[in-house]
Amino acid sequence: MSPKKRKLLGSFNRYKLILTLGVAVLLPAAGLIYANYSQLQLFERDKVLEAAIHRDFQEILAITEKRMNKKVYAMVEDIRGQFPDCDCDETEKEHKLDHILEKNPWISSILYYDDKGLILQSQPSKMEDKHFREERERMADDYKGWFNLEGKGLLEGMRKKIRPMNFYTGPAERSYGEVYVTSVLFPIPHAPMGKVVLGGLAFDDVYIKNTFFPEMLKEVVEDKYTEQGGNRIAISIGPIETEGSFSMNPLVASAGWDAEGKPEVVRKFEDVFRPLALAIKYQGTSVRELGETWVHNSFIILGILSLMIVGGLVLIKHMVSKEMALAKLKSDFVSNVSHELRTPLALIRLYAETLELGRISTQDKKHEYYRIIRKESERLTALINNILDFSRIEAGRKEYEFRETDIAELVRNTLDSYRYQIEQQGFELDERIDSNLPPLEVDREAIARALVNLINNALKYSGDDKFLGVRLYRENGVVKLEVLDHGIGIDRHDQSKIFEKFYRAGDPLVHNTKGSGLGLSLVRHISQAHGGDIVVESMPGRGSKFILSLPVKQTAEVAPPHQFAEGTMAS
Ligand code: ADP
Repeated sequence: MSPKKRKLLGSFNRYKLILTLGVAVLLPAAGLIYANYSQLQLFERDKVLEAAIHRDFQEILAITEKRMNKKVYAMVEDIRGQFPDCDCDETEKEHKLDHILEKNPWISSILYYDDKGLILQSQPSKMEDKHFREERERMADDYKGWFNLEGKGLLEGMRKKIRPMNFYTGPAERSYGEVYVTSVLFPIPHAPMGKVVLGGLAFDDVYIKNTFFPEMLKEVVEDKYTEQGGNRIAISIGPIETEGSFSMNPLVASAGWDAEGKPEVVRKFEDVFRPLALAIKYQGTSVRELGETWVHNSFIILGILSLMIVGGLVLIKHMVSKEMALAKLKSDFVSNVSHELRTPLALIRLYAETLELGRISTQDKKHEYYRIIRKESERLTALINNILDFSRIEAGRKEYEFRETDIAELVRNTLDSYRYQIEQQGFELDERIDSNLPPLEVDREAIARALVNLINNALKYSGDDKFLGVRLYRENGVVKLEVLDHGIGIDRHDQSKIFEKFYRAGDPLVHNTKGSGLGLSLVRHISQAHGGDIVVESMPGRGSKFILSLPVKQTAEVAPPHQFAEGTMAS
């Protein structure tokens, strides 16, 4: 394929990748982020959360009132049942009412009205209060007048209700300050229909304020917490001020009610405690604050998610680009390798046919042809060995056979079999091999192959300065095998990549020289399998030095431990 065509195909692939990423990942991700973002903004504007909480609060207050009413109704109903019959005389009635008062300290006054008049009895302890006494006197007159005038209508009105009771709550004065007093009127059971007979009682304001309200509020707050958890609520009861707002000094409040900050929801009582109202809020925070924190947190989470998506995309793009580069390297590899196989085969065939035809007369020429055939088949063998090794490594089936080896001898032998070829190509071979090296545990074939690959590269990538140096020495507990040349050198940028499979530097000479891009990746695999490594030092235009290090096995030098043991025993 021509380079122009290949380039076109590459950019087409890249375009396809970007399109796929865009349609499959980027667009939905961007859509998701946008949808969430606008949803959040909408949320903030419409105060949906706030409204939902307020609805919930309304419901809690309605339930609170219902519970209070239920309890009050039951208490009044119970007392109503104990009211004296109409036909008993006045003293007996008074006596019975006194008895009720005595048994039920939560009642401050109790009244009985019929055609014989009004009986109004009060708790003796309450009578000590001057204001209470005055109020009681006023009340006796007021009630008598009122019942005389409107008793009948009042009674009829009450009888039409599901619960025949009329409640009245209003402010009153006591020696200890202003209070709210709740009282109730009801028809007496079994009273003859034609007569106006009424009963009534006033709740003790101290009982309502200090016992009834606090207990009920506590119950509701606790129930709400055990049912739903979350932020604790606080409820209070108080009058509505003249300008319509809830009193800043409520009559009663549950634990956690702070005086500052407006209540979230205020609900007026509808029956028993009518002019008063219930108010609710969160302990220590407000719905607005909660909503703001929620939106704020959501934005942060959205931001983090967006970052993660962008990060993921960058990562995917990076990985796909890498895979694409690898795919390109692979296709280059296939064309390189086929060429590499074809050239030596063609040469071998050509020279063998020429020899077969018997047209070569001189011995020297024949020799020359034999040498070419041998050299080309060696090249072929090296290439096939590399490919086989590579495929074994890729499949994870490459095995090494480590044997104690005189490494100097191994290097010398390998060089010997290449010496002729090296010198034939006009290379100066500088060989410096230390002889007193410790024996190493190595795979002989693999190390020889690594050395051959390095030598072949040095020969392949050298220009006019044909120099090949091979050094073997020991340094800092490792044996180092160096192969150096004065060739084209390697760009700094390429130095870290040349050990990757299929990689070939972009130098024109490299491209004109055929190769598979496998040699150095094999050398690295071999050196790592021996517990060593390979590094390169190179300057473009000046040459390269490849250093393969092999660790010296500790046991090869240190005497086995049992010898020490024997020595100790002997002494
Ligand atoms: P190949 O030689 O078949 O291309 P290698 O894996 O042996 O594959 O080498 C990878 C690349 O490293 C080569 O293509 C070349 O660019 C570079 N390289 C290796 N050895 C040398 C060297 N001695 N001098 C300059 N470049 C080299």
